[in-house]
Amino acid sequence: MVIKSAIFITSNTRVDKLPSANLPEYAFIGRSNVGKSSLINALTGNRHLAKTSQTPGKTQLINHFLINDTWYLVDLPGYGFAKTSKSNRAAWEKFIRKYLLTRENLQCVFVLIDSRLEPQRIDLDFCRWLGEKGIPFMLVFTKADKQSQLKSKANIDKFRSALLQWFEETPPHFLTSAETQLGCEQVLATIDEINSN
Ligand code: GDP
Repeated sequence: MVIKSAIFITSNTRVDKLPSANLPEYAFIGRSNVGKSSLINALTGNRHLAKTSQTPGKTQLINHFLINDTWYLVDLPGYGFAKTSKSNRAAWEKFIRKYLLTRENLQCVFVLIDSRLEPQRIDLDFCRWLGEKGIPFMLVFTKADKQSQLKSKANIDKFRSALLQWFEETPPHFLTSAETQLGCEQVLATIDEINSN
């Protein structure tokens, strides 16, 4: 897919204020600092679209970007930051869960996972929850340029094996780098494919 236009539409703190659900929508989510903003910028070829390195625990927003006038890319707030309070975390969960459970045009959630890390409980639990709720998702392993392919592949295998305790098969996955653009075309091609079905 060639990105011809990527336009910021809205930032929302409330699910009932989202843009109308008239186009297919793809959400990106992951632990704070996983490289979500960098990947969104790499995917769209716009270095300033999503704001990188936001302060963890800051205002939690759902950001909508309109891509090629045909689909929405949605930047969801990062989860799992150590410094946030319990009440902040509860608010995050309520707000994001409501979005994920009710957004009717949501086609797929791309769950971002740091390819340098061994499987993290919080990522596994989130995937499990998506599976239980029947929300379609795929795995996007980030920051591949930071270590050898062998190391990334080992962590990906571990993550997929861990998911098999709850799933009969693991969802599609991508190995990406915002730095080298690795995997970006594949993610966009997948969105293209879903859009054309
Ligand atoms: P977010 O909090 O998930 O939006 O993460 P950011 O996109 O702000 O990235 C967090 C940090 O990781 C920043 O310092 C980025 O420059 C760095 N980073 C993100 N993606 C990559 C990548 O693919 N390769 C490398 N080498 N660094 C990355």
